[in-house]
Amino acid sequence: MRDIAYIALGSNLGDRSAHLAHARAALAALPDSRLIAVSSIEETDPLGGVAQHSYLNQMAALETALDPRALLAALQRIEREAGRVRDERWGARTLDLDIVKFGDQEVRDPHLIIPHPGLETRDFWRRELAELGEIM
Ligand code: ADP
Ligand code: MG
Repeated sequence: MRDIAYIALGSNLGDRSAHLAHARAALAALPDSRLIAVSSIEETDPLGGVAQHSYLNQMAALETALDPRALLAALQRIEREAGRVRDERWGARTLDLDIVKFGDQEVRDPHLIIPHPGLETRDFWRRELAELGEIM
């Protein structure tokens, strides 16, 4: 069965637009998957109060036969290839890819929670989902 996964793209370091473009291309190239639609790009302030640059955010709808865990592994590979910097002090990242929703599936693993808990507090995610026609 193929589900539609909604994936949040975020970047606040370096050439942010280029990192989002790279992520879109990498998502489109995933096996057994089809990139259906992307939202407009929004700029948001960083969460958490650490001084860092604002983010560019975008939501992608990916029809996929991958299961949620395989998709997470693929997203983490794409993050690594984008040269993601993990520095706790700044919290800045070249590319952050989060699975926001995955069809009607619910996952509660130690390393994977779907729907993503951040959906409660991130208005921009809900706006972007609405733009893609996802009924909350
Ligand atoms: P952030 O919370 O800012 O996205 P990270 O991208 O470093 O921070 O993610 C930390 C961990 O969150 C990842 O290693 C991953 O295992 C876990 N995680 C849990 N649920 C999800 C999800 N729905 N999508 C992506 N990562 C998730
Ligand atoms: Mg993440």
